[in-house]
Amino acid sequence: MNSKQNLNGIGMTSQRTRERLLGRLMDQGITSMEVLDVMRTTPRHIFLDEALSHRAYEDVALPIGHNQTISQPYIVARMTEALVKSGSLERVLEIGTGCGYQTAILAQLAKRVFTIERIKPLLDRAKHNLKLLGLRNIEFKHDDGSTGWQGCGPFDAIITTAAPQQIPQDLLDQLADGGRLVIPVGGEDFQELKLIQRDGSDFEERTLDKVRFVPLLMGQVQH
Ligand code: SAH
Repeated sequence: MNSKQNLNGIGMTSQRTRERLLGRLMDQGITSMEVLDVMRTTPRHIFLDEALSHRAYEDVALPIGHNQTISQPYIVARMTEALVKSGSLERVLEIGTGCGYQTAILAQLAKRVFTIERIKPLLDRAKHNLKLLGLRNIEFKHDDGSTGWQGCGPFDAIITTAAPQQIPQDLLDQLADGGRLVIPVGGEDFQELKLIQRDGSDFEERTLDKVRFVPLLMGQVQH
């Protein structure tokens, strides 16, 4: 397969298969045209191993190795929509790059995206995938992101795609005034997806959904 065919997709990764996924997202209440348009045109299959690429446009999380997953499209849409609808997206911080799918969606809606991943091989794969899509407004960091990206904030939006038991104070501190944090919070079995908006020294919190994410872990992994 040449690289154009690979990006456009054929068979189970074709545009028609993707349109069905878009229909599902709308049925589940996603209304932002900006978010829907970006999800329509972003190939999810390139973020998966070839053996799983035929399932790329099912609305499910799928394994990406290292005990991690690519997020479910509905959850990516829900989190992104929460940020798009609540204010500006000049500087966005993402904790948990994984294979880079959520990063790709954000990078097409935000001016700049800063993304942190603790597992080096996943970060390297994400860099490769995002380069393939020609997205250049992304800064990458191999680190434990539970303390945010010190010295790089404040951020208009922070998105965490792995779940801590409690919201890390550092992430709240790195929000700009009016900034929003979208984050799953809770135990291993399920979590609540929270949207927190900063207003000066006040933080207004809302619960958006019940979700299931991998845990936010400490430290870095090299291999
Ligand atoms: N954003 C991805 C989801 C990846 S799963 C997507 O679009 O599909 C969550 C990722 O968070 C995993 O790759 C995991 O390694 C990473 N992660 C977990 N704890 C972390 C931490 N403290 N700092 C940075 N990344 C972390």
